Amino acid sequence: MEKTLRGVTLRKNEYRDNTAIVTLFTPDFGIISVTAYGIHSTKKGVASALQTFTYSEFTLSERNGKYTLKSAELIESFDRLSSSYDELCRAAKLSRAAMTIFSEPSDNMGDAFELFYTVLSFTAYSDSDPEDLYIAFLLHAFSLSGQCPAVTHCSVCERELLSDRHMRFSPEDGGAVCSAGCSTKGVHVAPVFLEAMRRILSLPVGELDKVKLPKELQKSLSVELDYYLRFWYLK
Ligand SMILES: [Zn+2]
Repeated sequence: MEKTLRGVTLRKNEYRDNTAIVTLFTPDFGIISVTAYGIHSTKKGVASALQTFTYSEFTLSERNGKYTLKSAELIESFDRLSSSYDELCRAAKLSRAAMTIFSEPSDNMGDAFELFYTVLSFTAYSDSDPEDLYIAFLLHAFSLSGQCPAVTHCSVCERELLSDRHMRFSPEDGGAVCSAGCSTKGVHVAPVFLEAMRRILSLPVGELDKVKLPKELQKSLSVELDYYLRFWYLK
């Protein structure tokens, strides 16, 4: 059966002359692997459509749940993402997080794709700090996949923490926890640490380029949310 769909190429592993296994993120099926023959063929436009971090339209044939690429046409190349090593690393980091968080298909793959595509576009075209965009992506992706860290209540006793001056953030316990008694794991954080996460989560996806974090807060959020990602999705 043939299907035509749009998506972003996340990864391309060439394993034989002119053949590759390509990982695509699509709004229809989530993250899928596709076997592509003739990847260096310029005639069909396949080569440019299969560059990593490009948005393209693909025609696939499906047999027993396995996909083979029939044709591909580039729609948006996000040129800046391949313009330097730093840009490539940023796009690769975002893609790795998407592949980790959305590895299992679910009902809201359309929303998951929109989040990824929007943040990838901001990374390519806006003046936003890519690390701020990455943090915003992680939080919204955790939320969409049903594993959002606790940001208003203690994840152990469920007491509201909004008026607390001291609290901890413990990825292993599921997010924010009371500063004493509930957990000895995680790190002490200031109220602004939780406030920043609440604000980011309340923004619509199309406004995530408004996130501007002070450097120190950005660094601590980045470290803790990367740990949260590894703990909940790679264990
Ligand atoms: Zn507590």
